[in-house]
Amino acid sequence: MTLRGRLALSLIIIAAVLVVPLVVALRSMSGLHDNVRALREGEFKASLTLGRLRDALADVRSRELALVVRNDTVHAQLGTAITKAMSLTDSLNRYNLDGAPGKIHGALAIIAQATDREYAAVRADSGDLADKIRRETFGPAMREAEGAIGPTEQLLRGRTADRVAAAEEALIDAEHLSIAALAVALLLATAIALWLTRSISRPVFALEAGMQAIADGELDHKLNFDVDRKDEFGRLATSFEEMSRQLAELDKLKAEFVSIASHELKTPINVIMGYLQLMEEGVYGPLTEKQIPITKTIQAQARTLGRLAAQLLDVSRFEAGGGRIEPRPIKLAAMLDELERTFHVLAVQRQVAFTVTRAENLPVDVVWDAERINEVTGNLLSNAFKFTPAGGTIDLIASPDKNGVCIRVQDSGAGIAPEQLPRIFEKFYQADNQRSASAKGTGLGLAIAKEIVEAHQGKISCTSEVGKGTTFAITLPATVVNRRRTGGFRMIAPGT
Ligand code: ADP
Repeated sequence: MTLRGRLALSLIIIAAVLVVPLVVALRSMSGLHDNVRALREGEFKASLTLGRLRDALADVRSRELALVVRNDTVHAQLGTAITKAMSLTDSLNRYNLDGAPGKIHGALAIIAQATDREYAAVRADSGDLADKIRRETFGPAMREAEGAIGPTEQLLRGRTADRVAAAEEALIDAEHLSIAALAVALLLATAIALWLTRSISRPVFALEAGMQAIADGELDHKLNFDVDRKDEFGRLATSFEEMSRQLAELDKLKAEFVSIASHELKTPINVIMGYLQLMEEGVYGPLTEKQIPITKTIQAQARTLGRLAAQLLDVSRFEAGGGRIEPRPIKLAAMLDELERTFHVLAVQRQVAFTVTRAENLPVDVVWDAERINEVTGNLLSNAFKFTPAGGTIDLIASPDKNGVCIRVQDSGAGIAPEQLPRIFEKFYQADNQRSASAKGTGLGLAIAKEIVEAHQGKISCTSEVGKGTTFAITLPATVVNRRRTGGFRMIAPGT
């Protein structure tokens, strides 16, 4: 599934699970609303009607008493009051009140008949008969009608209380259900969010690590996630792999080009040097005063060119081997003696005080690529001699280090400006102190030295002060395990 699809699906699921507690709450609210409506339409209205019926019955009772005045209007008003009480009684029928309306209705029918008879007796001046009807018929019917109202009111009160209790219970249930649904929804949402974050952050971190690896020169880096996935990350991974493949190809082409070019340069340079030598020796006739300095300049330039070609070839070969070194056990003391011997002559020629100091507790045997390390120390010493004027000092100090051995090359020469110091290990970089140099360089020596030291799992650093001198320090493990540097790549170097 694509990233966009996964995001959309997750958002929909999160929204859906959050809707559940909302629906539960809404449903319980609508239940509550129904309950309130039922109460209003049922029990409350019935209670109200019962109250009005009680008033109507009281009205009937008082008007019955007025019948003695023998007035037709009073009799008619009594009839109306009875009819009103009847209709109120009938309207109670729909409230299911345990037969009370029927009972009241029956009593009211008796009351209506009794009052008519009573009025007829009054009109016939038959007071005894009227009294008898009141006592024996009207009175009991009236009491029956009035007596039915009290229990009905009680019944209604009971029903209201039941409904309120049921609503309260439903409300509590709904509250619990909503809380539970909300908790489940939140748990689910958190799980989805975590899954989403993981499924996005993992490839993002892997890509970031991949980019970093490429920036560090590790062009064969493999991404740490399923590159065959069908989403945007899968496409990104494919592009990433294509990019690193092309970069590796380019790097290989570049190294091949440098290797071939530098190799091809060597032959013409050697021919030029050879002819210059012969010219200097007078094989082609004596040189004039004017020609001598010109041949010297050409010779110096050809030498620089030769050195550049040799160093370029060295870099490209080193890179071609994936920065591979061949560590073998060597005697450290013998190596230092050899260095001292080699540079002693130069020190005498340049009138520079050169010392080699061997600190105590140095390991006797070290496992290094002796040829390569000699190249590094030789380069550091050559630079020191190049930038140190006559009367200066150059010290090579070898001392044990917690990680193995530290070799420092310290000179009292021209120094390097602090802002240029970080760049001196870059290929072809030369600091702004070339005027103090006794020979022309190429800017490649330190770049090669750094590569070699790092291939030995060591470190190289430099401190310097302009006008006071420079110190290079290399630290190397006493025993170097041969392992192919991740940053390197294989290349078929042409034979030399
Ligand atoms: P180069 O062939 O120019 O010596 P390197 O890579 O060996 O190339 O050195 C790079 C630059 O670092 C030099 O050009 C020089 O400016 C500076 N440098 C190196 N070693 C010293 C030193 N001992 N004293 C002063 N500057 C130095």
